[in-house]
Amino acid sequence: MRIVVDLTRCQSYGQCVFAAPSVFRFHGEEALEYDYTPDDQLREQVRWAAAACPVHAITLDYLDEQAEAVSPSENVRGKA
Ligand code: SF4
Repeated sequence: MRIVVDLTRCQSYGQCVFAAPSVFRFHGEEALEYDYTPDDQLREQVRWAAAACPVHAITLDYLDEQAEAVSPSENVRGKA
């Protein structure tokens, strides 16, 4: 997984920092820093972070793990 944050959209709300503090952090008052290629174990946190961003500045790229990204078991939610 790779993360791309559109820093021209980012308004430093900090929702991503709250959702995935080991991946996103502020450097100084408002400059967002992040790990571009976080460990796979942090994948769920990163997804929450992307979903929580109020300006949709976070894009997740799964191109380097296509087989895993299309895994049906990962897409099944709320199974009865
Ligand atoms: S949640 Fe979005 S707007 Fe807020 S700091 Fe993170 S990337 Fe920026």
